[in-house]
Formats: sequence, C-alpha cells, structure tokens
Amino acid sequence: MKPWLLIQTLAIKILAICLILEGTFTITGWLLFFGAGGFVVLHLLHPRLQGLCDVTSRFITDAPEVWLTIDDGPSPEDTPQILDLLDKYNAKATFFVVGEPAESHPELIRQVLARGHEIGTHTYTHPVASFWFAGASRTQSEVEKCHKLLQGLGANLRWFRAPVGIKNFWLRRTLREHGLHCVSWSIRSGDSFSRSPESVTSRILSKLRPGAILLLHEGSSLTESIRVHAIAQVLQALQERGYRCVLPGERAVNRLSTNGLRIRAGSNQA
Ligand SMILES: [Zn+2]
Repeated sequence: MKPWLLIQTLAIKILAICLILEGTFTITGWLLFFGAGGFVVLHLLHPRLQGLCDVTSRFITDAPEVWLTIDDGPSPEDTPQILDLLDKYNAKATFFVVGEPAESHPELIRQVLARGHEIGTHTYTHPVASFWFAGASRTQSEVEKCHKLLQGLGANLRWFRAPVGIKNFWLRRTLREHGLHCVSWSIRSGDSFSRSPESVTSRILSKLRPGAILLLHEGSSLTESIRVHAIAQVLQALQERGYRCVLPGERAVNRLSTNGLRIRAGSNQA
C-alpha cells in the first residue's frame, strides 16, 4: 500500500473517533470510520486506482494507436492462430501469460517472442478468488515463479497484470523487487461474458481513443463463438478506422500532468 493511502485512511478514522467521542455527530462519525476502510477496499478492487501500487491504464500518444493486451494464455489452440492474425494485420500485442500453462507449452512463449510481440506476467496460478488477500510470501511466490520461468524462456519482462485486475497489499513491494510495472486497461472488451464477437467489437469501438489499452483473452474459458474470432473482428475494425496496435514501451509508464508536462508514473507532481 502507498503511504498516502495509509495516512489518509488513518486520518479519516481519527476524525471519525473524535466525532463519535464528541457525541454531536455520532452517526457521521461511524459512517466515516467504516467508510475509510471501504476506501481502501475500493483501491484494492478497482483495476485502475493507484492506492496499492502504480497502475498504467493508458499510454501517451496523439496518433491513432492502441495497446492490444491478451490475457490468460498461452493456449496451444488459440495462440498460434492469434499470432497469424497479428501478422495479417501487421499488429503487435502483449501477451499476459500465466505460469502454469507457460511451463506446459514453452514453445508458445518462444513463438510469441520470435514474432516480435511482448510477454507480460500474469502470476503463476492465476488465483482469481484469493489473490486479493494473499500474504507477502504467497504474493512473492506467484510473481517470482512466473518471472523466473518466463525469463528462462527468453522474455525480457517489464509488465505485470493482476488476476482480474485485483491487487493486494504486498504487490507494490513485490513488483518493485522484480522491476515490474502493473498494467491495467482502458477498455475491457467483455469477451469473457459476451455471446458474439460483434458485441465485443462494438464495446471496444464505443470507447476507442488514442492511447487506449485493450483487454482481450485467449483460451478455453471463452465460449467457442468468441475464441480467436473476437480478436479477428477487433483487428479488422481497428484497421478500418486507421488504428494501429503498438507496443508503447516507455510511453506506458509516463502520464500527463494537468499542465501538459510528461511525468513518470508514481511521481507526486501531478
Ligand atoms: Zn487473467
């Protein structure tokens, strides 16, 4: 957790206790006391809030460019088809892969890298239900195991994505130790619950803007009508609108301050 969130939460609780003890604003005091905890939970659960660690949810550009990110692979059925599609549309993507399937299919990781795309880390076991309350050693193990495995396969790792975007209290320290930066998204495609590639594409197009980070998935958790087909339609739609899928690199860890100056994510200048 970042110090400012801790200090802010403690300050609200102290104010709440003062109000409760003073007796005039007792209900307000109790609301503030429990609301302060809710504020922390919000930062924990919301993929784009920065209270637990620095999170990138867009990158700086004025050009029609987006960052295509594909989670939950590698998949022996989907990944090769997706790589062919990316070649067809001259698009680049970052694959946020899970350690366990990567260990079973190391050749897919090498293929992704050999064809000019990026690998990001998405934990070793993808513990969707339990990552938010994982302790220091569990968090360390999820990140470390995946990190070592992917590095051993030749990946130059820089990006981390939390399972379903939910962070935890130990993540900031663990990511710093591994030189990783947390990446969220600007547009959730909804491919995990949509019934047709058309609805996935229209959801993305309705929010499309330069610098957006698109979240899509691969693998057997998707319905057959969505798997690969949604990515194909999205790539086609982006091309028709003149958008390119790029790897933003350094542009993903900088953001614009209110006066237009570029500052590094995590700085207190904004
Ligand atoms: Zn995932």
